[in-house]
Amino acid sequence: MAFTLPELNYSFDALEPHIDAKTMEIHYSKHHNGYVSKLNAAVEGSPLADKSLEALMSECSSHSPAVRNNGGGHYNHSLFWASMAASKGGAPTGDLLEAMNSSFGSFDAFKEEFTKAAGTRFGSGWAWLVEKDGKLAVGSTPNQDNPLMDCSDFKGNPLLNLDVWEHAYYLNYQNRRPDYIGAWWNTVNWDEVERRLKSL
Ligand code: MN
Repeated sequence: MAFTLPELNYSFDALEPHIDAKTMEIHYSKHHNGYVSKLNAAVEGSPLADKSLEALMSECSSHSPAVRNNGGGHYNHSLFWASMAASKGGAPTGDLLEAMNSSFGSFDAFKEEFTKAAGTRFGSGWAWLVEKDGKLAVGSTPNQDNPLMDCSDFKGNPLLNLDVWEHAYYLNYQNRRPDYIGAWWNTVNWDEVERRLKSL
């Protein structure tokens, strides 16, 4: 298979009480796994099977909706799992904090803007922190679109994302998306977000 489900670096219950084990298990084993399977089916036997996921995203306007939706689903969830860890949260430090201060004024101002982007994304989608042209920016995308896609209205180098599909929170939070967003901040692995920024 061209694409594989990445390993989770923590157990399903590692993010409790903020994200419950059952949601993690279904989200990872069923939803993400489904995107990987459908992406493999969509590229099987074609030259696309030899391309990187990032390459498929950057030229996704040339490909089928199956590649866009399932490739995006695979990329977005892979980044999402790696952005979280047990006993994290708090505030970033170092270069990442400096970049936030420079682009948003403060960490709190960034957090407010990101929370708003996640809360106001209508229907299913994702909120993002990206780097673009030396600055940080916040935005959101519908469905499984992401800022690497040439067809996305919001572009940049992804640093952090938040899944606001109902499948990400409905078991524990039902319709209370703001509560899920508020709890999710306690799981963010800022060391990983800073590593992404420095690797650009
Ligand atoms: Mn999801």
